[in-house]
Amino acid sequence: MGAEQSAHFKVDKSKCIQCGKCIDSCSGMVIAFGSDAFPKIKEFERFGWRGCWRCQHCLCVCPTGAISIFHKHPEDSLSPPPLEMGEYMERLIVNRRSCRRYLDQNVEPWVVSKILNAMAAAPTGGNACNVEYTVIDDKNRVKDIWQIAYATMEAKAKKTRVYSQFQRFLLWKNETIRKDREERRSAILRRPPSFYRSRKIYRTMGRG
Ligand code: SF4
Ligand code: SF4
Repeated sequence: MGAEQSAHFKVDKSKCIQCGKCIDSCSGMVIAFGSDAFPKIKEFERFGWRGCWRCQHCLCVCPTGAISIFHKHPEDSLSPPPLEMGEYMERLIVNRRSCRRYLDQNVEPWVVSKILNAMAAAPTGGNACNVEYTVIDDKNRVKDIWQIAYATMEAKAKKTRVYSQFQRFLLWKNETIRKDREERRSAILRRPPSFYRSRKIYRTMGRG
């Protein structure tokens, strides 16, 4: 099977305006104009690799939606964000704050699924897409895990001279958890004991 067939690369000639954007943006530099003056994937093979990074840039940059690849079609794609999105992004970053108090309830499955879909689009080196996420979607299981984490931290602290500091932290933590329970908020592993940070970093922390 040729490189073009294995990538299921198809150009709709009725839509292609031969602008060359797919060629310019191809990460693997494997697209070129063919003898028919339409883009095609060049034959390339080294150790079984065809030179295509599977990035789908070719599909995304085509201004007329003429390219399909890996059974992905332009008509099934999300539309690009509006131009003012750059300004929104800046506001989003500047206004970001960490949330350390959560409702004492499980996150809706559709929200988790939406987040996972967005995370699947995160860049990975060489488009390897070998990042795995573990989702714990049960708040009681989350509680089990942070209790294990605290028990492990305590066991480690016992071996150091800062154990009393850790005990003070646990007292404070248990009191916070008790108050959170009264207000029906969950208390997920926040504010680790300060002795795990250097003093300098601790003093210069502006916000969470
Ligand atoms: S998926 Fe990426 S590397 Fe493969 S042909 Fe398209 S632009 Fe080139
Ligand atoms: S980007 Fe689209 S319109 Fe431009 S040459 Fe490639 S297939 Fe044709």
